Amino acid sequence: MLSKKKTLEAIEVMAKMFPDAEGELIHNNPFELLIAVILSAQATDVSVNKITPALFKKFPTPEAFAEAPLEEIEESIRTIGLFRNKAKHIKGCCIMLIEEYQGEVPQTIKELMTLPGVGRKTANVVAGDAFGVPAIAVDTHVERVSKRLRIVKKSATVLEVEEALMKKVPKERWVETHHRMIFFGRYHCLARNPKCSECPLLYLCAEGKTRI
Ligand code: SF4
Repeated sequence: MLSKKKTLEAIEVMAKMFPDAEGELIHNNPFELLIAVILSAQATDVSVNKITPALFKKFPTPEAFAEAPLEEIEESIRTIGLFRNKAKHIKGCCIMLIEEYQGEVPQTIKELMTLPGVGRKTANVVAGDAFGVPAIAVDTHVERVSKRLRIVKKSATVLEVEEALMKKVPKERWVETHHRMIFFGRYHCLARNPKCSECPLLYLCAEGKTRI
């Protein structure tokens, strides 16, 4: 398993490769980010960004989603996978924002997780990116990269990945580390064809050594 020192070394390399890594979901405020992250489950950021400008024009507030017929929300997001469930979650989430949070997106991970359609990953992304709360959201890229580099064992659960990263990375670097690992996974250590032969982390990567 990669030590804390080696983990930070790996993250430094990712930082040099992707110094400007940041969230790629287009949004203008915490509410839009929350809806975009709900839509992005098992969908690409690119596909979400294609529909959100028109979506937020049509439904600019929690009230607009809460009052809209479910079918109308479904119709507006039908190009996104799992659109029926997501429409239900978005409407439910907006109703709860109005009833429990005065129409504002709550700022803590615990409160965010009370919203329909908002799991730990979504809550961490919104808390970290919209409010600067230290958080490491573990998505498919963060999980894959952590396992390939053996920052965690291959059988680790998503929660174990998050806990291991929180232990090995200083709190003030959690949010940036999350973005850098996503970029590293999305553009370099790809799921099907990781670029091992040109990878600056090959020297400490257990998985990479078995692939070349
Ligand atoms: S060596 Fe390959 S598997 Fe390891 S981090 Fe680099 S690209 Fe990913």
